[in-house]
Amino acid sequence: MTEPAFLSNARIVLINTSHPGNIGAVARAMKNMGISDLCLVAPQQYPHERAVWRAASAVDILDNATVVETFEEAIADCGLVVGTSARGRRIPWPLVNPRVCAEKIVPELPQHKVALVFGREDRGMTNEELQRCNLHVNIPTSEAYSSLNLGMAVQVLCYELRMAAIADSLTADEMAEWDTRLATNDEVERLFTHLEQTLIDMEFLKPEAPKQLMNRLRRMYSRIRLDDLEVQMMRGILSTTQKWVQKARDNDT
Ligand code: SAH
Repeated sequence: MTEPAFLSNARIVLINTSHPGNIGAVARAMKNMGISDLCLVAPQQYPHERAVWRAASAVDILDNATVVETFEEAIADCGLVVGTSARGRRIPWPLVNPRVCAEKIVPELPQHKVALVFGREDRGMTNEELQRCNLHVNIPTSEAYSSLNLGMAVQVLCYELRMAAIADSLTADEMAEWDTRLATNDEVERLFTHLEQTLIDMEFLKPEAPKQLMNRLRRMYSRIRLDDLEVQMMRGILSTTQKWVQKARDNDT
C-alpha cells in the first residue's frame, strides 16, 4: 500500500519534556505511523542518549526534529492547533476523542500544517497553552487513572491519524471549495492582541479587572476557524473603531 498523502503536514509538538526517553519513544511512535515532523519546545534534557536508545530505528525523526524556545514558535505556521489534556479544565473547550479528532484533522492536511500538542509529564499543558488551541482531545481512560505516558498518548493519536488517513479519500473536505486559505495561528494571535487593545481603548475591557473576557472571546473565535480575509476584515473594523474612539476623546477635550 502506498503511504497516505499529506501526513507530512502533521506536526507533533512536545512542550517542555523532562524525560529524554519519552522523546525517543515519541519519535518511534511517529515513524511507525508515517508522521515525521517533530517539534520540541524547550526540552529539559536534549539531545540525550536515552532519546536515541528509545527511538530505535526512528533516530532520523530525532535528527530532523526542530527545537524552539516557545510554544508560539512551534505553532506559528499551523492552520489548526489541537491540544491534548488528561483532565477537564475550568473553561470547557470543544473537546473530542482521538478518533473524531483524526477525522477532523485528515481532511485539512492537504491545505495546511496541523499541530498536535502534548504537555509536560508532570503537569500537562497550562490553561494558557490550551487556550491557544482550536480543539482539545482527550483519550478516554478509566476514571481510576486518566494520565497516559507521553509516548503512549502520542502513539494513540498518531495511530488514529493514520487510520483516518488510510480511510479518507480526501474528497469529503468541507473547506476544499473555499475561496481563500484559513488564517494561521500567528495571524489570529495578532487579531486577538488588536481586539484586546481596542476593547481597552473603548473602556469595555478594564485591564485591572479583565475577568474571563479575552478567554471567552478566544473560545468563540476558535469555534469559527477564521480565514485570512476575515482576519483582515476584523482588523479593519478594529482600526476604524479605534479611530472613532480617538475622535470622540479629542472632541471631549
Ligand atoms: N498530570 C498531567 C498529565 C501529563 S501526561 C495532567 O494532569 O495534565 C503527559 C501528556 O500526555 C499530557 O500533557 C498529554 O499531552 C498526554 N496525555 C496523557 N494522558 C492523556 C489523555 N488521557 N488524553 C489526552 N492526552 C493525554
